[in-house]
Amino acid sequence: MSYKIKNGKIITRSIEYSVSYHCNLRCSSCSHMSPFIPKKFPFIESFSSDIHLLSRCLHADVIRLIGGEPLLNPEINSFLAIAKESGIADRLMVTTNGLLLHSMNADFWKLVDCVLVNLYPGIRLKESIDEFKLRAKMFGARLCVRDQCAFRISLVTSPHPNDWITDMIFRTCKNAHVFQCHMVHEGKLYKCAVPPFLPEYLLKLGINGYDPNRDAFNFREAKDLLEALKRFLLSPATMDSCRFCLGYVGKPQPHHQLEPKLIAEPALQQVTRSGNLDHYVFIRECAHYYWSQALAGWKGRRSRQSERSL
Ligand code: SF4
Ligand code: SF4
Repeated sequence: MSYKIKNGKIITRSIEYSVSYHCNLRCSSCSHMSPFIPKKFPFIESFSSDIHLLSRCLHADVIRLIGGEPLLNPEINSFLAIAKESGIADRLMVTTNGLLLHSMNADFWKLVDCVLVNLYPGIRLKESIDEFKLRAKMFGARLCVRDQCAFRISLVTSPHPNDWITDMIFRTCKNAHVFQCHMVHEGKLYKCAVPPFLPEYLLKLGINGYDPNRDAFNFREAKDLLEALKRFLLSPATMDSCRFCLGYVGKPQPHHQLEPKLIAEPALQQVTRSGNLDHYVFIRECAHYYWSQALAGWKGRRSRQSERSL
């Protein structure tokens, strides 16, 4: 993973912030575990102070307000206004399932740069996508649409038994290393969106002992923020949360809504690494990883040699 530094700030592709921990859908394989999370919104004061603090050393191409379902938060416009004013990102994006998009007012459309609507099979929106596109255009925003007919299985119900597989799942995970979906959550920065919500999900499985703080960077307490942030983002250490995740190598499965009994007791449906890891993709991603490591090593040796011969 590499990051540029510009004007004393680390440049990342994206920052994510969950403005609603719960959702009005209950998609299977929701990587944010929203169907398992009780109704909860973050405090806007905490968002404001965290984003302003981070903006001193971190800049993103895009800040994505996500969920759960972000449009459930009645203060969504204030979150957008704070994100814009902080200057932490070039663009403001909201990722939504679209169910409440018809109720967004003009201020919302003026503030947001891009709305990404994920369309799920069998879910009907109150207005057509063309109407939403027109509204977005009227306010100078963009509306993008993504059909979500299939989901890659992300979370498993028992930890991977083997450390090297967990390591490879982490190293080949595009969420953490390519798309840099780094999440800000209650004063901490995470490399992806899984750790902050994992304890609640594991508790439903009767699994205790996972501590998200081990995978977090507590930036509120950092003395030298830029250096500490660099150390955190560049650390190659596998996150503990990856023991319960398939990252980018889970098998795709047709999208469906979870039955309430599986939400109450997810252990009823055992999801294991052996049954849900896409072996072809796993081998391909591992080969790609080792190839890029070898290439980086060769390039490093070449540049050291040319420095010596100067
Ligand atoms: S709409 Fe998104 S956040 Fe909500 S349950 Fe589905 S995948 Fe999760
Ligand atoms: S928990 Fe690990 S494997 Fe899963 S998305 Fe995060 S970094 Fe990737």
